[in-house]
Amino acid sequence: MSKLCPQCGAPVNETAVKCEYCGASIPSSAPQQTQTAASQPQVVVVQTNTADQTRANWPIKNKITAGLLAILLGGLGIHKFYLGQGGKGILYLLFCWTYIPAIIGLIEGITILTSNDENFQIKYKCRLG
Ligand SMILES: [Zn+2]
Repeated sequence: MSKLCPQCGAPVNETAVKCEYCGASIPSSAPQQTQTAASQPQVVVVQTNTADQTRANWPIKNKITAGLLAILLGGLGIHKFYLGQGGKGILYLLFCWTYIPAIIGLIEGITILTSNDENFQIKYKCRLG
């Protein structure tokens, strides 16, 4: 694309500063590539759900097993050991002769079996396999 001299209309070289015919100065209107920088900044939303991340580390447990252990062996705190609450399990074991842990275990077993899966998982920090 050659430019035209604004003075005489003669075609002049693109890079010419002066018209070679009339000597008029050529405005250097370099056609800049006006690329509309409308490239939207891509907002990549990386959802790092930390709650789910921690959850992935929770051990897999079985709700039915936990419930049955509580009902059948609750007096010995077996379900507590199973659910990773060994400290409480020992308490149950220590007081098993009073039969109170057995009663609590029975109630806990029923609660576990009837509890919402989600609540169970959060309460005992485990995942249902
Ligand atoms: Zn000219």
